Amino acid sequence: MPSLRRPTRQITIGDARVGIIKVGGGLPDRHQSPTTPAPVSVQTMTAGATHDVERCVAEINKLAAAGADIVRVAVPEKKDTEALKEILPRVRVPIVADVHFHFQRALEAVEAGVHKIRLNPGNITDRAQVIDVIQACKAAQGGRGIPIRVGVNEGSIIERKDKEKRMKELGAFFSGHKHGHLLAIMIAKLEEYLDIFYEQDFRDIVISAKSMDAAFVVDAYTEISKRFEHPLHLGVTHAGPRETGAIRSVVALGGLLINGVGDTIRISYASDPVYEVQDALELLYCLGLRERVGVDLIACPTCGRIQVDLFTLVQDVRKALAEKVTVPMKVAVMGCIVNGPGEAEGADVAVFAGDRRGIIYVQGERVANVPEPEILERLLAECLAFQDKVKRGEAKLGEKKVDIIPPDPIGKLGSGFDKIAGGQVEKSVGLTIGKS
Ligand code: SF4
Repeated sequence: MPSLRRPTRQITIGDARVGIIKVGGGLPDRHQSPTTPAPVSVQTMTAGATHDVERCVAEINKLAAAGADIVRVAVPEKKDTEALKEILPRVRVPIVADVHFHFQRALEAVEAGVHKIRLNPGNITDRAQVIDVIQACKAAQGGRGIPIRVGVNEGSIIERKDKEKRMKELGAFFSGHKHGHLLAIMIAKLEEYLDIFYEQDFRDIVISAKSMDAAFVVDAYTEISKRFEHPLHLGVTHAGPRETGAIRSVVALGGLLINGVGDTIRISYASDPVYEVQDALELLYCLGLRERVGVDLIACPTCGRIQVDLFTLVQDVRKALAEKVTVPMKVAVMGCIVNGPGEAEGADVAVFAGDRRGIIYVQGERVANVPEPEILERLLAECLAFQDKVKRGEAKLGEKKVDIIPPDPIGKLGSGFDKIAGGQVEKSVGLTIGKS
């Protein structure tokens, strides 16, 4: 289980129309009111050009439907910030403008009504320009203000001209550390940059410190969390394709979150951003940091005992339930009687395979025993019927009505299956479902 969340100075993103997302919490807010840590939010970024309005709106809405709490868009050109005026009224999720190099894009995005700005201290360095952006964000939304993320990517933070000299000077702070010089540069840069914000009495700040190196990400955010009270946006940048990027991201973000560090996350893949959202949510569900929406699917790995075409079945079940089930029910799809009864007992709806058959349970009660071609249809029907019952208040998630007695592990597999098929493994009396 994750440690207690690190207290931070909460910020809010959004408005009454798109909804308000709170990030961080635990310290008093700018009005000195107490706050509690908000659920860790999930964000991602659109892949298309922002000035392609129709495509951008469609992409934002798709990402919001996938579960993104916040969506970021790139605004490299004036036509992108112009497009924001058309995009913002057509979406229902807070939008962040990602600004690099040109501070004017930030001013234009604020004027268009964007909900948050991301600045990179590595490429917007002019003090007067930063102050202009801060003042614009302060005055935004009729004076309520919008937050700014200060994002110090490893790749853009190194000051190339005096790199060696800076590393020597600052590295001393973290001399025993593998990434000491880089950490020192990052933290020094953040301190220097945030001083501009503090001087302007601006504290609606989120910090990020991304790198493609998962170990460095853990170290950087850990050190930053000790030094700043602002919420942290976690991410491993340039993580690569989903196949490798998932491990890279989950190792770093999971390690931080489990230690209470991190308030909003982005998983980054060289792929469809919908996967970023799905995987970020799954990470938070697994850590118990978000309440699950939809099915918690349990299934066997490769195993020589599987008795049906399990992997096809699992994928078919996953796809069908993702579209149709919204309650967080536990569904187990198991390949044989070794662990099948145990998982069936703990799941809301379960199937475990016998010899080319599926024995289906709902909260421990055996409801069917069907041949392999009928497993999918019957399992889905049971899941939907169970969901309806939960919604009507006639069933409770996680309840167990019947204890299943595991089949005799001694003897050949078939002996256990015979007992199950014969209805001999339930303790309850009155269950008279036979082979159907
Ligand atoms: S339940 Fe059976 S098929 Fe599944 S992993 Fe265990 S032994 Fe293998």
